[in-house]
Amino acid sequence: MHDDTKVIPSQVVTEATKAALLRRGVTLEAIAEIVYEMQSPYNKGLTLEHCIESIEGVLRKRELQHAILVGIELDELAEQGKLSTPLQEIVESDEGLFGVDETIALGAVFTYGSIAVTTFGHLDKNKTGIIKELDTVKGKAIHTFLDDLVASIAACASSRIAHRTRDLQEMGETFEDITPDETMPETKVKGAKI
Ligand code: MG
Repeated sequence: MHDDTKVIPSQVVTEATKAALLRRGVTLEAIAEIVYEMQSPYNKGLTLEHCIESIEGVLRKRELQHAILVGIELDELAEQGKLSTPLQEIVESDEGLFGVDETIALGAVFTYGSIAVTTFGHLDKNKTGIIKELDTVKGKAIHTFLDDLVASIAACASSRIAHRTRDLQEMGETFEDITPDETMPETKVKGAKI
């Protein structure tokens, strides 16, 4: 079967994902603070810049990008009152039994293995930093999906760091020995548009 679906360039999706987060008031630095809190006890020399670089790596993954774009779109449509009844009321009120927000965010963390899954569970329960802010927002803003998506990004970035730590250990190094742009080796590929 011939598939003539238009292919969207990766860079376009990556940029759209970052723009969506920023539009919703979520900076990479705010997510990095959570990642730092999760991983600094286990990683000598880890800095916020290393954490930001790890988040950048996570945001290049299609699984995460798609989850983020879908979730943010639904939050925004709900804010504009554009969902149909009863989904509008369910998303608007972040109904206790509505678990699709967690399910989408959890689905995206599987890419990064068990450390990402357990970290996501921890963040979902304890809601630190910007996750807490998003969860307790007052007024018209709706963050039903966004708080879980941020937990997902932070969990994935934490897992990447944990795995990178093991690689460093095997080379007799720690995060003290590497610059942020060396956090994820694939970012050093020559000519990579990232
Ligand atoms: Mg939620």
